[in-house]
Amino acid sequence: MQASNLSFLVVEDDDFQRQTIVDMLHLLGSAGVKQAGDGKQALEILQAARARSVDVVLCDLEMPGMDGMAFFRHLKSEHPDIAIVIISALDGALISSVEKMTQAYGLRLLGAVEKPITLKRIEALISQYGITQTSRERSPTVTPNFTLEEILQGVQDNQFEPFFQPKVDLVTGRIAGAEALARWIHPEHGVIAPYAFIDQLEQNGKIDGLTFAMLEKSAIACRLLHEQGHRAFTVSVNLSLTSLTDITLADRVTKVMHDANVDPRHIVLEVTESAAMTEVAHPLENLARLRMHGFGLSIDDYGTGYSSMQQITRIAFSELKIDQSFVKGFANDQALRIMVESSIDMAHKLRMKCVAEGVETQCDQDALKSMGCDMAQGYLIAKPMGLTPFLGFCGEYSGR
Ligand code: C2E
Ligand code: CA
Ligand code: CA
Repeated sequence: MQASNLSFLVVEDDDFQRQTIVDMLHLLGSAGVKQAGDGKQALEILQAARARSVDVVLCDLEMPGMDGMAFFRHLKSEHPDIAIVIISALDGALISSVEKMTQAYGLRLLGAVEKPITLKRIEALISQYGITQTSRERSPTVTPNFTLEEILQGVQDNQFEPFFQPKVDLVTGRIAGAEALARWIHPEHGVIAPYAFIDQLEQNGKIDGLTFAMLEKSAIACRLLHEQGHRAFTVSVNLSLTSLTDITLADRVTKVMHDANVDPRHIVLEVTESAAMTEVAHPLENLARLRMHGFGLSIDDYGTGYSSMQQITRIAFSELKIDQSFVKGFANDQALRIMVESSIDMAHKLRMKCVAEGVETQCDQDALKSMGCDMAQGYLIAKPMGLTPFLGFCGEYSGR
């Protein structure tokens, strides 16, 4: 979007700096530029102006009276559709924490500019208008709430399928395998994502039916992939910790692979821990046995919730999966870079492979590669897809 089609409000207490930004916006062709010296005055202007007469607010963080942070909070409740640009002379880490805050409020953030401001930077941020969306616009589809009975019936009727999301080997640039992610192919509502059923199944101790359906279908997919010549591919399947309290689990999982004629070495079990591990002995016995039988074990969502360092010390993981909340946009965030890099180093020192999930940009993937991360998974490479499209994708993918 071009500045000439938009109207602006510049909120900045320093007269000279405010005038500079106003001049830049005029230079970019905008006819509608309003100005305010602090947050309170800005709100008054917005209230007085007719609805939707301001498209973008450019706002300084440090101002006497109502500062930028308080102003954003008011903007959220009173004018949630206005896009914002953060302007500040503060250091990068602080600006980045304010960026996170505005995103948490669901505001439409075009980006941040460090002072001194340049015309080029302002133009680049404004061009984002129309590309970024508010959180309300992002989730237009509403998934119905299912009862536990409905979900279990769906499992019994064999309506759940794995969707496969490729993992790329960052050294060779080739596909190394895929993670199988559960999708409910609902006869009425179409493809349903896991958040609508996993938690309910886990909390009621009923996840096993789904887990085994996923294991069986993933094993078949793995064999097919190997038959098509992708002999080194691994398929990852999510295993919730609640299943691991059943002492027979390891043997039952091993039998699935045996029956499908798949070597457990080609299957990685991603352990997602959604609740604190209360009973420890049985899960540890199961996991040790699975590893002994050749399965790969991955610590999923590393860095969040209960996926902790303590886990690493007591389970023989072969892979560490850095949670996507650390990976998205990390290349441009100093604190995240340090965390990602230390996780990669730690994984390697403990002889684990390191996978980064949630890779959405080439810039992040390049940074992971330069840090020596082994594998990447994310929308940059591909979203999860059904088996048939995945087989086609593997045939065509040439890496980047
Ligand atoms: P997860 O294991 O952390 O899986 C990664 C999730 O991130 C997937 O969401 C995937 O679609 C999404 N994702 C991958 N790349 C990107 C990216 O670049 N950007 C963004 N924004 N998202 C990305 P999905 O498929 O909705 O699965 C959500 C969670 O549900 C999974 O998180 C996993 O914890 C759980 N889950 C899925 N299938 C199963 C299953 O068969 N069994 C169990 N126990 N849990 C499962
Ligand atoms: Ca996972
Ligand atoms: Ca994750």
